[in-house]
Amino acid sequence: MHYLPIFLRIQDRPVLVVGGGQVAVRKVTMLLRADAHVRLVAENVDPALTRLLEGAEHTIATRSFEERDLDGVTLVIAATDNEDLNQHIYELAHARHLPVNVVDNPGLCDFIFPSIVDRSPVVVAVSSSGQSPMLARLLRARLETFIPSGYGRLASLLGEARNKVKALIPDMGVRMRFWEKLLNGPVAEQMMAGKESEAEQLLDEALADVDADVQGEVYLVGAGPGDPDLLTFRALRLMQQADVVLYDRLVTEEILNMCRQDAERIHVGKQRKQHTMPQQDISRMLVDLAQQGKRVLRLKGGDPFIFGRGGEEIAELAAHRIPFQVVPGITAASGCASYAGIPLTHRDHSQSVRFVTGHLKDDTCDLNWPNLVQDSQTLVFYMGLVSLPIICEELIRHGMTRDKPIALIQQGTTPHQQVYTGTLATLPGIIARSDVKAPTLIIVGDVVKLHDTLKWQ
Ligand code: SAH
Repeated sequence: MHYLPIFLRIQDRPVLVVGGGQVAVRKVTMLLRADAHVRLVAENVDPALTRLLEGAEHTIATRSFEERDLDGVTLVIAATDNEDLNQHIYELAHARHLPVNVVDNPGLCDFIFPSIVDRSPVVVAVSSSGQSPMLARLLRARLETFIPSGYGRLASLLGEARNKVKALIPDMGVRMRFWEKLLNGPVAEQMMAGKESEAEQLLDEALADVDADVQGEVYLVGAGPGDPDLLTFRALRLMQQADVVLYDRLVTEEILNMCRQDAERIHVGKQRKQHTMPQQDISRMLVDLAQQGKRVLRLKGGDPFIFGRGGEEIAELAAHRIPFQVVPGITAASGCASYAGIPLTHRDHSQSVRFVTGHLKDDTCDLNWPNLVQDSQTLVFYMGLVSLPIICEELIRHGMTRDKPIALIQQGTTPHQQVYTGTLATLPGIIARSDVKAPTLIIVGDVVKLHDTLKWQ
């Protein structure tokens, strides 16, 4: 290890910055985030610095550096473009045993600025010891995606309870288990979901009953249309902490493999005409598992609230007073439309979009067709593959032109995506002659014409 990683308190302490350009702006910005008092010395001062250092606790001297500038400061940063001057500052600071950082010159640095992920009060610092700041930045960006923004709020909440917990649970081992349970349970979850007062209340309850059993909970999570990159950060986090996963056919193997490795997996089916498990049984199972104290993940294709029966499942949970949360996902319409280059709305072609189920009861048409046939509107049919000929026929019968563009997207956003386009008159024939695989989505409207120019090459 070339440097000792420490976090230095510089709040209200004077820090000297020599140099008035963009580099100084970056350093000063960081110093201000840690509430330092900045003493800036530079012959030319960037106006951004003047703005940043407006407060009375900061000073700006518009002149060249003098040795007395080092008097009484805690840290020194040399950010000039004059190498000799930087070297001079380094030597003077060194002689006074003052930690000094010469920007972009690792050889002249007693300390360096790491790349940081700031979830104050949680801060993660990454450094390549000055070897490759770019690599450190890249790593930081990766960490950024792993550390949800709610961590800062969570740390503050737990920080407030720290002394109380210490007094309540003197045994360190027991205390650690208590914290662990808290960090993996509803308190942390509520906090991440931005529900601070609920989290505080749960924390109070946990403190009032430190021996209580863990309460189970359910996460109703939208897994998006297929491409794992379209998962949300929250979906991924919950997938990695659930004890048991209930999933259906729309969830791809790739996404399923991103769940916690030792989580129990239960396939609850849902295939056309062969509903492997009736909806009431699924809802009942969610309740039972949560009542056993498990963290249950109900993973659904697309968005749980769009043709996902999510409402029914959470109604059952609410009736049994089981904590739950719903995580939206990218619905098939958004995913397929983007990946196929078909904007769902467009200033010139479509001012509204309708999501319609194409799953017609007993193959009869119980849709309000006249209502669907409107100008400047995009129609998106979910579950419409089998009914495609009826859909086209009825739309024409109710006044849509036979040459209205229509697309059918197979397995959208996955490597198996296929887009078939035609008109209301031609597409059913094209599909009948093709080997189409579910799931498929149908888009009707003039926006489909844009597919040829906007599709990915
Ligand atoms: N809740 C889901 C929809 C469930 S209904 C969502 O928001 O996307 C199931 C229907 O969704 C399928 O019949 C199909 O029409 C559509 N669908 C889901 N994923 C799809 C995909 N990757 N490509 C095309 N259609 C898809």
